[in-house]
Amino acid sequence: MALPRYQNFVNGDYTANQTGEYFDVINPATGQVIYQVEMADSTIKATAINSARHGFSLWSTLTAIERTRILNRAAALLRERNDELARVEVLDTGKPWQEAEGVDVASGADAIEYFAGLAPSVVGQQQSVGADFYYTRKEALGICAGIGAWNYPLQIACWKAAPALACGNSMIFKPSEETPLGALKLAEIFIEAGLPAGVFNVVQGGAEVGQWLASHNEVEKVSFTGQVGTGKKVMRSASDNLKDITMELGGKSPLIVFDDANIVEAVSAAMLGNFFTQGEICTNCTRVYLHENIRVEFLAQLKTRIENNIVAGDPFDSNVNFGALISAKHQQLVLDYIAKGIEEGAELLTGGTALQPRSAPNGYFVAPTVFISCHDDMTIVKEEIFGPVMSVLTFSDEDDVIRRANNTALGLAAGVFTKDVHRAHRVIHKLNAGICWINSYGLSPVEMPVGGFKQSGIGRENGLETLNQYTQTKAVYMGMSTLDSPF
Ligand code: NAD
Repeated sequence: MALPRYQNFVNGDYTANQTGEYFDVINPATGQVIYQVEMADSTIKATAINSARHGFSLWSTLTAIERTRILNRAAALLRERNDELARVEVLDTGKPWQEAEGVDVASGADAIEYFAGLAPSVVGQQQSVGADFYYTRKEALGICAGIGAWNYPLQIACWKAAPALACGNSMIFKPSEETPLGALKLAEIFIEAGLPAGVFNVVQGGAEVGQWLASHNEVEKVSFTGQVGTGKKVMRSASDNLKDITMELGGKSPLIVFDDANIVEAVSAAMLGNFFTQGEICTNCTRVYLHENIRVEFLAQLKTRIENNIVAGDPFDSNVNFGALISAKHQQLVLDYIAKGIEEGAELLTGGTALQPRSAPNGYFVAPTVFISCHDDMTIVKEEIFGPVMSVLTFSDEDDVIRRANNTALGLAAGVFTKDVHRAHRVIHKLNAGICWINSYGLSPVEMPVGGFKQSGIGRENGLETLNQYTQTKAVYMGMSTLDSPF
């Protein structure tokens, strides 16, 4: 049977490319090619730019409340089609159905609803200066580009489109070539909700298409989610016309557990922050610092819960809570890191191998893995692995653990577990990270801004301040008195 083949979505509809070039998409839980996608060629790219320009001219002149209504309809459609869309995400990413069904679509819809609600409240200021005054206008930027990673494909598309569109911009979005379908489904929904053609376009392909988008002269902003190294390339491309940028990049985040912490809760946090979405989450706390007094108890509980409660297998099985990694290549990369950990002297508490669950024997699984006896200078402690690999370290002194936690070029997230409220805030305030949790981990409601310190990113997604990142301020001075001139 012929595989389904998807076209690019530009100017309000699926559009065939001229070259006939396409790529395969693989279900990571089975290793099977499930569909094909046409590459964006020069005709598609030109149509995307022309339609985004035209879309912007229509969309930016609607009233904000008209934009709100359309975006709210899109959010409602996302929720109505939750299961259909969650299924797309499971097939593309290999993540468990029980996650996608509850998190992926809902968190995307939340962002659209949140920014739709804020659209009419994007306001400037007015101030008197003597007899004169000035006011500011918050104007849309124009055509914005979104470039996504593969771990939360639909959510990433929504988190970028929502503030961009709410502020009156148009968008050209390029999903990861590993997970291209969710963004196409979002484009369909936007059209059904009444979005004018060209306001949200999806172009398909890999690095070359991303680079084209990031460097295009008519694109005013690029919001990127992906690896630090790719982010640096995107910044270079964006410098061609000095684009505004948002960078959501990788992390190697610390979780610090003090000896007065609720151990059961802290183990839950460490497990969520290492094994949810089979470890493929940017904010994961892959460096777990345990106070030496609770190390033995913490590790005993951790090992028992991993070995008894984590169920890997066919992601569509409702009992499965641990899915397949995105690709054979990524599985090998994670296994190579594990081998490196062993070579550098870390000891395995559990895991450390590929898995072949009976219900998904050809999937790209890696067992939930915990390394103990880790040192700060080991490769597995320093580099983002983006898989289910936790490194456990110990400490006894507060200042020392803060210094060690901050000793990295990354700064995406951090967590602290303690019952001492003064210590909790004191420590969190000293950690160099953009997203922090006290006695919690991983939760990211749309109201809360997220983004990284240091090389983990630039700018924020979600929260009120994101509105500033999709608008530009125009200051208008009004002369009420005679203009004083020496000429
Ligand atoms: P990646 O950097 O390999 O790819 C991301 C996107 O960039 C893809 O769409 C890819 O096609 C595109 N791309 C590749 N080369 C490009 C180039 N030269 N110019 C423009 N675009 C290019 O990342 P990935 O492997 O898809 O995703 C995993 C990474 O994403 C991890 O490092 C993870 O931490 C990070 N991530 C960060 C966040 C966050 O919010 N901070 C969220 C999710 C994932």
